[in-house]
Amino acid sequence: MQTIDDLDVAGRRVLVRADFNVPLEDAGDGTRRITDDGRIRAVLPTVELLRSRGARVILVAHLGRPKNGPDPALSLAPVAARLGELLAAPVALASDVSGESAKQVSAALMDGQVALLENVRFDSRETSKDAAVRGQLAAELAALADVFVSDGFGVVHREQASVTDVARLLPHAAGLLVLSEAKIFGKVLHNPERPYVVVLGGSKVSDKLGVIQNLLTSVDRLLVGGGMCFTFLAALGYGVGSSLLEVDQIDTVKGLMADAQARGVSIVLPLDVVVATAFSADAEHKVVAADSIEDGWLGLDIGPLTRALFAQSVSDARTVVWNGPMGVFEMAPYAEGTRAVAEAITHVDGLTVVGGGDSAAAVRLLGIDESGFTHISTGGGASLELLEGRVLPGLAVLED
Ligand code: ADP
Ligand code: MG
Repeated sequence: MQTIDDLDVAGRRVLVRADFNVPLEDAGDGTRRITDDGRIRAVLPTVELLRSRGARVILVAHLGRPKNGPDPALSLAPVAARLGELLAAPVALASDVSGESAKQVSAALMDGQVALLENVRFDSRETSKDAAVRGQLAAELAALADVFVSDGFGVVHREQASVTDVARLLPHAAGLLVLSEAKIFGKVLHNPERPYVVVLGGSKVSDKLGVIQNLLTSVDRLLVGGGMCFTFLAALGYGVGSSLLEVDQIDTVKGLMADAQARGVSIVLPLDVVVATAFSADAEHKVVAADSIEDGWLGLDIGPLTRALFAQSVSDARTVVWNGPMGVFEMAPYAEGTRAVAEAITHVDGLTVVGGGDSAAAVRLLGIDESGFTHISTGGGASLELLEGRVLPGLAVLED
């Protein structure tokens, strides 16, 4: 992959695809406020590097899923403001994606200055399935700049105008974030030190079936918690009460378990679970054995024996990938499983990677020491697709 070092950027206009898809809430005064600026911070090293080399930086990014063109609620204005604070430099926001305002803002940039284009998904061509339609927008974006840097790891699994098509029209390189994510996942996928343990959780098995299938060819141990463990427990013949269950996946999961056994991969399942009478922090709850969930109760976290078992099962690992919370960590009574597993992973002596948007959010919410992990991925969907063994179009295009 080409890097920024391979590009001549001094005095040139550099279009940088970033991931600014940040969570927002209403500030109460008609404006919107960013509740987690992690994704903005993640691109700062690339922006600072480009500025230090005298580049004129034009950022392009999306926010949410605007349906019918420009939507003030999904403007990148709060991002431009936050970016300006973090860089301690003004960040001009174009009022359109590739029109008159974008051209003016781009033309006015001086060496070392930074501008941001308005939400690229305000232009429906960005996500068109038709390559020719996307190509028109890509050509307009390319006309604003001299070179392209891809640094939105959260979107590299998308075939979109500002991700792949524009890279085909300009000299291009991976930014520092995309480079570090690609390196870490490359190591995990192609050359993991063993034991290699993957911890999976989250809500649905069906979201992660492809990942499990692919991982069975490489991991030594697979730990399953979260909402998806109940489909595994059901596949063992246990009753799961009112827990999250994907009945149509039970046979597939049985097949996965047989495959794992044939390959010598151990699948580690919960021994006990925290069950509650309702999906609520205030509901009555208790710990039961994993094979003793009664009707009317739903499993919302792994239990204490399982916390210890999972902690033990990662302790000797040299590579750990964790994707998906162990329970409904957003509610305090069901956060302990996720906390225990996350903490255990921080004590592992080896490469430790957190993938998945909610898992990364859990680390922050629960106050786990982020420096205890080798890497917390900024791309949930992209990291899952890499773990599925897929070629991501936004990375492949940078290799040409
Ligand atoms: P990630 O974004 O890390 O890949 P997912 O999106 O797959 O994770 O799943 C995250 C969600 O899974 C969280 O909102 C969490 O509350 C939910 N979850 C975890 N365990 C359970 C459970 N036992 N029942 C229902 N939902 C669960
Ligand atoms: Mg998620």
